[in-house]
Amino acid sequence: MTATRITHLIAGEPWSGTAERTSPVYNPATGEQSGVLDLASSELVGEVVAKAKKAWSQEWGTLSLARRSQILFTFRELLNRDKERIAAIITAEHGKVLDDALGEVNRGLEVVEFACGIPSLLKGGFTENASTKVDVYSMRQSLGVVAIISPFNFPAMVPLWFVPVAVACGNAVVIKPSEKDPSATIAIAALWREAGLPDGVVNVVNGDKEAVDALLTHPDVKSISFVGSTPIARYVYETGTSHGKRVQALGGAKNHMLVLPDADLDLAADAAINAGFGSAGERCMAISALVAVDSIADDLVEKIKDRMGKLRTGDGTRGCDMGPLVTQQHRDKVVAYVEAGEAQGASLVVDGRSGTYDADGEGFFLAPTLLDNVDEQMSVYTDEIFGPVLSVVRVHSYDDGLDLINRNQYGNGTAIFTNDGGAARRFQSEVEVGMVGINVPIPVPVSYYSFGGWKNSLFGDSHAHGMDGVHFFTRGKVVTSRWLDPSHGGLNLGFPQND
Ligand code: NAD
Repeated sequence: MTATRITHLIAGEPWSGTAERTSPVYNPATGEQSGVLDLASSELVGEVVAKAKKAWSQEWGTLSLARRSQILFTFRELLNRDKERIAAIITAEHGKVLDDALGEVNRGLEVVEFACGIPSLLKGGFTENASTKVDVYSMRQSLGVVAIISPFNFPAMVPLWFVPVAVACGNAVVIKPSEKDPSATIAIAALWREAGLPDGVVNVVNGDKEAVDALLTHPDVKSISFVGSTPIARYVYETGTSHGKRVQALGGAKNHMLVLPDADLDLAADAAINAGFGSAGERCMAISALVAVDSIADDLVEKIKDRMGKLRTGDGTRGCDMGPLVTQQHRDKVVAYVEAGEAQGASLVVDGRSGTYDADGEGFFLAPTLLDNVDEQMSVYTDEIFGPVLSVVRVHSYDDGLDLINRNQYGNGTAIFTNDGGAARRFQSEVEVGMVGINVPIPVPVSYYSFGGWKNSLFGDSHAHGMDGVHFFTRGKVVTSRWLDPSHGGLNLGFPQND
């Protein structure tokens, strides 16, 4: 198979230059290299930011809300039209199965639909006669050029968490997708031109640390929306804010699912499988720690083991339940965690290393793996593994489970499985995690709420999409206005007071 060149999308056009550096893109199901990706230099990033700034200041930033929302509605139709094509691109570069890839595009579409309501989302307040003959009103204005830096695991959905809201708010965008699977992001960005968006408002630059650093330090980039691992999220937050930017940096996760003795164990076992092994565990909302209260732990592990025997792992185009991991290197890292777990005393209930796969070639596969009797010190528990490995941690009670979750450095998502409404209500209030599911294993909020974790899962104050997104991509302004009439009142050097 010959590797196709993949390049930047600048002002609606593929870049025609020659890259000094490139990186390989693989089909994880076959192990073959499918693409050669151009990596941007910092000079090129500067040129793209300049084009975006021009498009914002001369055209998009001042276009009426009526015209902006018409383009958003058209974009929504085009994305809906092309969603199967985009899902196939995701599967070819990321490896997740086609249904799952389509699901991610659909979740992204929901954010576009939210952004279509931008005229009402940007409505300000108005107070007549706040002081005598003085009116006060608020407005929200665009920032200018905003940057979005995304991870490999959701090449469509994560950029769609931000781009539609940023564009709807009147900004111009530079997206830096993951170098592992950039093509879905580029394909979606190309639809904006067809929707009627002026060229230069949405651009894609591919790259690595050099491109990211160029965005983090460029004076004309006003905000950074980052999603990725915690060490890089912290670096992006610290570097971006020290360069005067507004930053939201979403990081890694270790999501716990607490199962109480009164839970429906069949529902809990199904949920653990879906949330633990969907997308091969490469989801920031994947359940990786199953916290089982002692009295039901044996039954629950047995039910999960039974279900794991029915899962098919293989090429995402063949109707399997689970696909490969994204790269060989990542697959080897996940396997090393399984080995460490075993060496540190966990019980290996199902060993994914001996799995069979429905695929051709040398794909980056690891079948679902279940470890029991995992404790808090084992690396399989302390670290985010980001693979199809579910660890069962046994606890004595609700309180022990809650303390374990709250001690963890991450706070992205969590879930409780119980039939006790009182326990669920206590949990939603007491757990120190940003997104909570009650008998729902992957509580990804709908688009008109906001997505984001706590603690080391998010640096910054704003979550993604919903009203947090609208606020992040705009600046508030309050106008206090008085139109003079014949009674206006002379000199007064005192601090303005309302009367
Ligand atoms: P990553 O941190 O390796 O990469 C994310 C982005 O940062 C990519 O665009 C990459 O090119 C860039 N990058 C990588 N190294 C860099 C460096 N040294 N300097 C500057 N930029 C750099 O993450 P990933 O492996 O692509 O994605 C998986 C991670 O993302 C997991 O930790 C997962 O939990 C996290 N994630 C979090 C959320 C969330 O909402 N909290 C959502 C999805 C993924």
